[in-house]
Amino acid sequence: MFFLPNLDYEYDALKESISEDIMRLHHQKHHQSYIDKLNTALNSYPELQNSSIEELIKDIDNIPADVRTAVRNHGGGHYNHSLFWKCMSPGGGGEPEGKLMADIIEKYGSFETFIDEFTSKALTLFGSGWVWLQPDMEIIASPNQDNPLMFGQSAPILGLDVWEHAYYLDYMNKRDDYINNWWNIVDWKFVENRYTSAEQAV
Ligand code: MN
Repeated sequence: MFFLPNLDYEYDALKESISEDIMRLHHQKHHQSYIDKLNTALNSYPELQNSSIEELIKDIDNIPADVRTAVRNHGGGHYNHSLFWKCMSPGGGGEPEGKLMADIIEKYGSFETFIDEFTSKALTLFGSGWVWLQPDMEIIASPNQDNPLMFGQSAPILGLDVWEHAYYLDYMNKRDDYINNWWNIVDWKFVENRYTSAEQAV
């Protein structure tokens, strides 16, 4: 059984960028629904029920065919949202420090260029999906609830939800305003710790 993880902050804590209404709906309804449907999909496969969410989605090609799409969509949804909540904090924003900042600058030339490239990937992603920063400093976009683990890549260290449900109540069609304000709540300390630690479970 998978369960909805608690947030590390109140629903209204990010309200300068994401309203309490969105946070509540997104966590209690959308994320909960992915978990419920994942659990339902695994009902007939008890041997999979003790796997971690990382194990399930890394091994997506070997999940029984009749539940593979459900695990991909809802297991992906559970993993992605679990990471997303942790990537944000009311004390977030600003810039990373240490090795992460150094490696961003080495790859992109400046932090501002990195922000521009990540934002651009998020703005040009058609439909619903996610944008990720990978430990090799590549920026990857994926559709729906897919994520890099499903394609044999490393666990992402930062993820942005660009489904309309993540911003429409506050921003309507203005995805650019959502993303620009999202940078103000990114918890770089969390991303740095994830980057430099060997353990990257959600
Ligand atoms: Mn979402």
